Amino acid sequence: MSDLADLNVGEAATGLRAGDFSSVELTDAVIKRAGITESHLHAYLTFDQDAARDAARVADDARAGGEDRGPLHGIPIALKDNMTTRGTETTAGSKILAGYVPPYDAAVVERLQSRHAVILGKTNLDEYAMGSSTENSAYGPTRNPWDTERIPGGSSGGSAAAVAVGSAMAALGSDTGGSIRQPAAMCGIVGVKPTYGLVSRYGLIAFASSLDQIGPFARTVADAASLLEVIAEFDIRDATSYRGERPAFSQALEEGVAGMRVGVVTELSGDGIDAEVAAACRAMYDSLANAGAEVSEVSLPASEYALSAYYLIAPAEASANLARFDGVRYGLRVGGATTEEMMARTRAEGFGPEVTRRILLGTYALSAGYYDAFYGQAQKVRTLVRRDFAAAYEKVDVLVSPTSPTTAFPIGERTADPLSMYYADVCTIASNLAGDPSGSVPIGLDNQGLPIGFQIMAPALHEANLFRAAAEVERLATFSHRPALATSEVRPA
Ligand code: GLN
Repeated sequence: MSDLADLNVGEAATGLRAGDFSSVELTDAVIKRAGITESHLHAYLTFDQDAARDAARVADDARAGGEDRGPLHGIPIALKDNMTTRGTETTAGSKILAGYVPPYDAAVVERLQSRHAVILGKTNLDEYAMGSSTENSAYGPTRNPWDTERIPGGSSGGSAAAVAVGSAMAALGSDTGGSIRQPAAMCGIVGVKPTYGLVSRYGLIAFASSLDQIGPFARTVADAASLLEVIAEFDIRDATSYRGERPAFSQALEEGVAGMRVGVVTELSGDGIDAEVAAACRAMYDSLANAGAEVSEVSLPASEYALSAYYLIAPAEASANLARFDGVRYGLRVGGATTEEMMARTRAEGFGPEVTRRILLGTYALSAGYYDAFYGQAQKVRTLVRRDFAAAYEKVDVLVSPTSPTTAFPIGERTADPLSMYYADVCTIASNLAGDPSGSVPIGLDNQGLPIGFQIMAPALHEANLFRAAAEVERLATFSHRPALATSEVRPA
């Protein structure tokens, strides 16, 4: 292997264990790659080379002392910048948090560090994770590594772009309505949103608390499973953390799909799905059937209303969660004659237009006289969506669909039209409403050379099913393409 930055997590872990190279060498290769790609992509908001090298040295020393803390020991990993890192600025992509240096680490950060993973830095995102393109970042957009005139997806666009080009070996993102799966699809990598409650949200800057989940980005399904195994742990500090045992996710990877019941979601297969995306997914349904799966069509009738329900529930929760950013405790403060004026000015100045829109929508949906008509109705739809999934999973083990209705769209194409931006998550949102796990695996390129993602959904806590099917999709697709930027020959822009 000529460039260590091209290794996946599994390969790098093997090389580290064998002593073929050190974590410092591996981390240096990734830092060097970032030095080339960052000027093209802007995947990172904070990239801390020195801290990363220090952590790599600690990992190497521990290994030299006979320690092996598992598959992430010495592996360079990036974090979406809505997870708190003690001593490192955490902005959530918002101007209102510029300069905010948290006094504590998110639970997932503790987990990674306890395994001697190497944290590289903080990746770009749509402000407060609200968006599907990373264009809503107050710090400028991230670009798609396959075509830098296009969006990388969002809101975890920085994490996805970094993993796609090798400026991180893996990354964490958060997914409230699709923010891991959709950018994974657009950047040609694997992304998984776990079951709600599986991964602690302690230290994740809240967007919509009943929907938010942290999950992995990686270049292979096995790598995503390894990462999830490390971060999925009960945590007393998150009141919604699942207390039960965590299933082992990686054991099913080699099982294949013979006899597995796979349901193709009718509502997500036809109307509104780009023809090339639909065709690639149809070909994969056939391949799964040839590999021994029992493929059938399954209807989720309420999913038609999922997007509308989500855009009431998520903003409603966001309006409550974002009330704390008032100029008193965190980040930006714009002065005023009274406390109220200070708060109003700080918020007007600190929040971008999409966040402001969500706060207004959410406050309206929750206000007296409208609560039942909007928020209440949306919660009823959420129950119907859950029931649809429960009924479907009596018949099938996993559900499948495209991850996104289109491949990556041009920067600027949808910024003036929020509804078309919201539509980018039409395939992913239902799993968040249901609280179920769901992942995206790349299956091909469209005629413009842009990656197409395939979505696999499973019942709550059945990540093993998801990974089993995902591993087969990965084998069948043999997606070995890498963006041109992921080579050492490219020069900084
Ligand atoms: N695009 C969706 C939104 O803007 C989902 C975002 C997310 O999953 N964080 O709300």
